[in-house]
Amino acid sequence: MLQSLFGSKANGSGAAMALAPQIGRPLVDLIQVKKAYNTPAGDFHALKGIDLQIGQGEFVAVLGKSGAGKSTLINMVTGIDRPSSGQIQVGDQRVHELSEEQVAAWRGQNVGVIFQFFQLLPMLTCAQNVMLPMDFANYHRSPQERRARALYLLEQVDIPEQADKLPSAVSGGQRQRVAIARALANDPAFLAADEPTGNLDSKTANAVFGVFEKLVDGGRTILMVTHDRELASRVTRTVRIADGRIVDHAQSGNVGPGTRPWEALDV
Ligand code: ADP
Ligand code: MG
Repeated sequence: MLQSLFGSKANGSGAAMALAPQIGRPLVDLIQVKKAYNTPAGDFHALKGIDLQIGQGEFVAVLGKSGAGKSTLINMVTGIDRPSSGQIQVGDQRVHELSEEQVAAWRGQNVGVIFQFFQLLPMLTCAQNVMLPMDFANYHRSPQERRARALYLLEQVDIPEQADKLPSAVSGGQRQRVAIARALANDPAFLAADEPTGNLDSKTANAVFGVFEKLVDGGRTILMVTHDRELASRVTRTVRIADGRIVDHAQSGNVGPGTRPWEALDV
C-alpha cells in the first residue's frame, strides 16, 4: 500500500513525466469522470460525470456531505483508484492511461497526497517517514542528502525539532505536518489532501491550514477536501459535490462576507 502510494522502485523509467502543463492547459483536467463501485447489490455510481479544471497555483476546496464522492474524486486525481470512464490529466500525464505500476511511480514523483489520519509508518521516525518517498522514487541523492532534505522539509513545516521522534511521540498537528513534509519529498507541483484537518482541533487545524496557504503562496497547486467552512472561505475556489456530481462552483475572491454560497451549505 505505502509503496503504491509513494511510487515503485521497480519502474524507474517511462512513467516519470514532467508535470509542466502545456500552454493554455489547466494543471489538472478532469473530463466526464465517472466511477462505479461493484457491490453485491450491483454497481454503485459514486461519481456521475465530473468535469473539473484546476489552474496552476489554485487552492481548491472540495465540499460536500459524507458519501457525496469527495474521497473518490481525490482517489481519481491521484491515481489511487481508476475511473470507470472519462479522462484525467495532471500536467502532461494522462493518468487514466497508466498501468497500476506506472501510476504508482508517477504519483510518487509528481503528486503529494495527504490523508485525514496521516498514515505515517509508526516504526519509522518523522524524518525517516519524510525520506520514504525519496527512497521509493529512486531519488538521485545519497542517504545523507535525503536526510538533509527531510530535515529541510520538517523545518518548512515548523517542526525541525521532532525529526528523530517516532510519530507516536508527537502531537496530531505535528503528525500532519510530518505528512505534509512527506508529501513534499519529491517536490511535486500538485498536492491532494483528503480532510487533512478533519482529525485536528480547530486551533491546530487552523495552523496546519496555514501551512497549506504557505505552500500555495510558494506556487503549489492544492486540491483539498474539507468540512470546515471557515477554512473553505480562505481558498481561491470551492467546488461542492453532491451525489457524485459537482453542483456548485464558487470563486472566493468574487463574493463578499456573508454572501459566500457555501456558508449556507450543509457540509
Ligand atoms: P465522501 O468522501 O464524500 O464521504 P466517498 O467518495 O468516500 O464519499 O464515497 C462516495 C460513495 O461511494 C459512498 O456512498 C460510499 O459508500 C461509496 N463507496 C466508496 N468506496 C466504495 C467501495 N470501495 N465500494 C463500494 N462503495 C464505495
Ligand atoms: Mg471521504
